[in-house]
Amino acid sequence: MGSVIKAKCPCGYVSGDLFEGCGMAGPETCRNLARCDHCQEIVLIRSSSVRHRCPKCRHKVQVITINNQRIFDSKPEKFECPQCRKTSMRLREVGLWD
Ligand SMILES: [Zn+2]
Ligand SMILES: [Zn+2]
Repeated sequence: MGSVIKAKCPCGYVSGDLFEGCGMAGPETCRNLARCDHCQEIVLIRSSSVRHRCPKCRHKVQVITINNQRIFDSKPEKFECPQCRKTSMRLREVGLWD
């Protein structure tokens, strides 16, 4: 089971629906969130890949590790925004997949 995550930053950056985690089909379906500084976007990468590269531009990406619990805490974890570069982007779980 994976989570559908949306990233949002006060600067105006909003990601699309990000399908993070693993589906029923097995480890090959596992996805991690990553930040591409070239596209200035949050992208999804295959967890199984050794070299983490952006699926769009093939540049190296920063993998984002989510502690799912913290998303719902009163003080949610903040992440570096790919656009304004401040650590003020928040992730929200908007649903589940598979
Ligand atoms: Zn990219
Ligand atoms: Zn921002």
